[in-house]
Amino acid sequence: MTWFVQPSLINDPFSDPGLFIDFRFGRRALLFDLGELSQLSPRQLLRVSHAFVSHAHMDHFAGFDRLLRVCLHRAMPLHLVGPTDFADRVEHKLNAYTLNLLDEHPFDFLITATEFAEAGAEHVCEFRALEAFRRRELSPVPLPPGMLLDEDEFQIRSVVLDHGTPCLAFSFEEKLRVNVWSEGLKSLQLGVGPWLKEAKRAVRRGAPDDSEVVISPDQSIPLGMLKQHVLRTARGQKIAYVVDTAYHEENVDRIITLARGADQLFIEAAFIDADADVAAQRRHLTARQAGDIAKRAGVARFVPFHFSARYREQEDWLRSEAEEAFRA
Ligand SMILES: [Zn+2]
Repeated sequence: MTWFVQPSLINDPFSDPGLFIDFRFGRRALLFDLGELSQLSPRQLLRVSHAFVSHAHMDHFAGFDRLLRVCLHRAMPLHLVGPTDFADRVEHKLNAYTLNLLDEHPFDFLITATEFAEAGAEHVCEFRALEAFRRRELSPVPLPPGMLLDEDEFQIRSVVLDHGTPCLAFSFEEKLRVNVWSEGLKSLQLGVGPWLKEAKRAVRRGAPDDSEVVISPDQSIPLGMLKQHVLRTARGQKIAYVVDTAYHEENVDRIITLARGADQLFIEAAFIDADADVAAQRRHLTARQAGDIAKRAGVARFVPFHFSARYREQEDWLRSEAEEAFRA
């Protein structure tokens, strides 16, 4: 199966956590967390449309400056999402700079910041380069509970976890995948065009087979025929990302709900189980707890990361503890 997006950890598991989700098509990428980003090239960062920040501890947010530096003069907006108080933090970051002379550049670089809480997006604001990033309040787009972003091809969901401070966990869920079979196009003597996007949309929303897809002003074709010859469907992939969370029932339930059935779960495994009391104090998971949650969520593959630096010489220990709990 060809991939729609490719997730990869930005750093080694002992360094700042973060996931880069690269799209196969459309020169686009997403980021989960904004810690150390120097492993990503400017070209990769320029593709980032959205950065989802779990919380503003430095190892999750210190990379904001680099992202801003690279994107400052680009045309595509940058959408940022974080927990309660996040918009203030973005505003403070922007206010740290001298912002005159930005109008010498052709693009009015736009940043939006959305604060996500239990009930959904509760605060949205925007900052425009040509206004020296002065903050403007916007009204949030209404979305179903737990939904952060809903596009044609995928959704992003989030839950709020307790890490002594609110910490967001995220899932990327591709909708039903609709691939185009070019031999089928040829056999029906159809060319590619914007109509294909409409046809894919119709399949995803379950439109009836006799609905007509308009190919050009003087040609339309029943959806059923396209499904038979041109469009192939497959289940989309699901990727979940969980960092910095205390191990207690409420958190665990929320993680399991979010990550259920994921193809890949990236989950922090900060401490070994012998140090579970330290993990509890710091509101982090142990490797065993991470593996157990992954198992209970029924994920196909799980990737433990965000290891405490104290275990640099004991990486195998952390990994085997996590793996054992997952396989138990
Ligand atoms: Zn933290």
